[in-house]
Amino acid sequence: MQILIIEDEDSLREGLLDLIRAAGHEVDCASTAAAGLDLAAVNATDLVLLDLMLPDGDGIDVCSRLREQHPQIAILMLTARGSENDKVKGLNAGADDYVTKPFGARELLARIEAIARRTRIRPTTPTRIEIDGSQLDLNRHLAQRGETQTHLTPRESAILHWLYHQRQRAVSRAELLEQVWGTRGDLKTRTVDMTIANLRQKIELDPADPQIIKTVTGVGYAWGQSE
Ligand code: CA
Repeated sequence: MQILIIEDEDSLREGLLDLIRAAGHEVDCASTAAAGLDLAAVNATDLVLLDLMLPDGDGIDVCSRLREQHPQIAILMLTARGSENDKVKGLNAGADDYVTKPFGARELLARIEAIARRTRIRPTTPTRIEIDGSQLDLNRHLAQRGETQTHLTPRESAILHWLYHQRQRAVSRAELLEQVWGTRGDLKTRTVDMTIANLRQKIELDPADPQIIKTVTGVGYAWGQSE
């Protein structure tokens, strides 16, 4: 993958550069928000490692702008603050995931590998899925209902991809965490619910009465119906 590191702390940025390059990825580095946004526009970036506290701007704003300008790029936030609020704001701004500093090399590489795995499975997805009046283009991360087109994040596309391919059965939150986030554990099931709530706002005719991503009480979620 082509990975862009936006981190102003020199020692951390250089450490990440060595680590990720050694894992076989191409790496660009920026130490400011402005330089990072410029680089993302120039190179075919697959994944951004984004520090939340940058000298020339808030990482949350950078996240929103990246998501708006490059919906196909995966965003992994690096947060030092340990604040639940920042993580929620970042996820709402379109980040795919976060790691809290200080993080271990293995943890970070596992998160990157999970994103790489999702990127690799993408081509097997049908180009377009039509469901309940919505057209979902999971390769291009787009949802369209009538004249209204909405960008999906790579994670949102991956959720739809997984539910669609498992459409004969319901899928638990733990399974989504493992398959889509690449992590395990009950602690982050709230993240699954929050991400699905945002996704429903984008694709459902009435998010309060979802027809595409159904809630299955006591189990998790299920694809609404066959196309
Ligand atoms: Ca920083």
